[in-house]
Amino acid sequence: MTSIEHSRHTLAHLLAAAVLELFPDAKPTIGPAVDNGFYYDFDFGKNAPKEEDLTRIEEKMRALLPDWDSFTREEISADDARKLFKHNPYKIELTDEIEKTGDAVSIYTCGGFSDLCRGGHAEHPNKDIKPDSFKLERIAGAYWRGDENNTMLTRIYGLAFPTKKELDAYITQQEEAKKRDHRILGAQLKLFTLSPLVGSGLPLLQPNGAIIRREIEEYLWDLHKNKGYDRVWTPHLAKEALYETSGHASKFGDELFRVQGKEEKFFLKPMNCPHHMQIFADNHFSYRDMPVRYFEPATVYRDEKTGQLSGLTRVRSITQDDGHLFCRVSQINEEVSTIVGIIKEFYATMHMLEGYWVRLSLRGADGTYLGSDQVWETAQQALQDAAESNKLPYKAVEGEAAFYGPKLDFMFKDAIGREWQLATIQCDFNLPERFDLSFINEQGEKERPVVIHRAISGSLERFMGVMIEHFAGAFPLWLAPVQARILPISEAHKDYAHEILKALKAADIRTDIDESNETLGKKIREAKTKKIPYLLVIGDQEVESKTATLESRDKGKVGALSAKDIVEKLQEEIREKK
Ligand SMILES: [Zn+2]
Ligand SMILES: [Zn+2]
Repeated sequence: MTSIEHSRHTLAHLLAAAVLELFPDAKPTIGPAVDNGFYYDFDFGKNAPKEEDLTRIEEKMRALLPDWDSFTREEISADDARKLFKHNPYKIELTDEIEKTGDAVSIYTCGGFSDLCRGGHAEHPNKDIKPDSFKLERIAGAYWRGDENNTMLTRIYGLAFPTKKELDAYITQQEEAKKRDHRILGAQLKLFTLSPLVGSGLPLLQPNGAIIRREIEEYLWDLHKNKGYDRVWTPHLAKEALYETSGHASKFGDELFRVQGKEEKFFLKPMNCPHHMQIFADNHFSYRDMPVRYFEPATVYRDEKTGQLSGLTRVRSITQDDGHLFCRVSQINEEVSTIVGIIKEFYATMHMLEGYWVRLSLRGADGTYLGSDQVWETAQQALQDAAESNKLPYKAVEGEAAFYGPKLDFMFKDAIGREWQLATIQCDFNLPERFDLSFINEQGEKERPVVIHRAISGSLERFMGVMIEHFAGAFPLWLAPVQARILPISEAHKDYAHEILKALKAADIRTDIDESNETLGKKIREAKTKKIPYLLVIGDQEVESKTATLESRDKGKVGALSAKDIVEKLQEEIREKK
């Protein structure tokens, strides 16, 4: 069986073969499979192809494919490999590295094209790969080995799927995603701003964006407040010793922002957990107080590379809708179940519950993890039991755990089918140990609590970015920054329009009025570009009958209603978060 990864990597070989036919001086470097296809990096010297050459290269790939029946593998000495690639310094560098590790140097050949490779190919490329299931996508620059001190190479990206149908669906999704790009919509709808003076990755929310964020935050708190959670508040920095004790200092390393005080050194906080643990520690809780649950939407700071920052989804200031529960091992299942309930309700409201799945992220064979094997076994088992008893659609994946414990990561699909990792529930037996947390049990002895970390939206910035794209800026009424706009047709209707405005504002419905001298058609078009959920048109008839003609963004004309009826209708829709 040929996997899609093998087909994608095979296509990278085929791309290199096609490029060498058309650009004989090109030096191929490396060509891996990626999530949506493959790429290959070349050094073209002065003769680099342009986007318009992609069709030609793609056609050459299709012309070569029928002769690609199967790969042969040959192990050769490092010296022979260096001879074989004597005109290609990149392959020589790779050969030197393989030689150092002591691994065999293997050459794979198919259709007369040989490449240095570790393997992982389609069994029969000409049968397994459909000629219409791939497409060269774009050209980009890429430094050799990702190091900016090295030569800039030319990367050719290709898309590849098992069938043409899946390829087309992916292309359509990408086009739709471009139209919904939250950075473009964010500017168009005046949601957020990036200021070069403030810095990259530090988005500022405009009034409209701040409304959306506040609504999400308040809704999250609404879902928690009757389930035994207490709100806490913690500052944005703490002494280095806190994160040395927690282990975050070594884990986050140079991603930490350092703050030099007059007398002491601080870090801007990369996580809220150690702070919440200090709040817990300053109480003398008994088993009767357990579980203790803290909730705090709090901003953490991580110094991500400037080049990786983007809009609201990759930022340096990350506001987690954070919460920590301190409980006994016997209480894990019930607590996780409560959190699962909150997650399901939240994502049902956001229209994202359909097709979700959960990854049970377990410890891997290698990697740095805190804590003993026994503690890990207990924590992993506890989460698996909770996933089972809540009938979660879960898959266990090794090597995806946090450094301090296993977790349940929730994957949700947006309106165009893209998958996002958003909510998380993490089980932690390590931090309580490091901070020597305890409560007094029935025997009057100190007992160590378990900590459950949970976030429902993940980070408010990223979640907002996802929501802007999910709703394409057309937010449901309860989230919309402007919920209704009043459109008086002419000067004569303005006084009455203001009466209606007053009534809606008194009912806490976010309403504005368009008093410009434009035609009604133009006012309606303007409101539509702003994706305002409801328009209230006021002309002679409406003034006469003491009504306003209500028009819905999603459902079209509703009809002429009194201010009282409009308020009731909108309030109900807001309350129910339809
Ligand atoms: Zn290969
Ligand atoms: Zn935490």
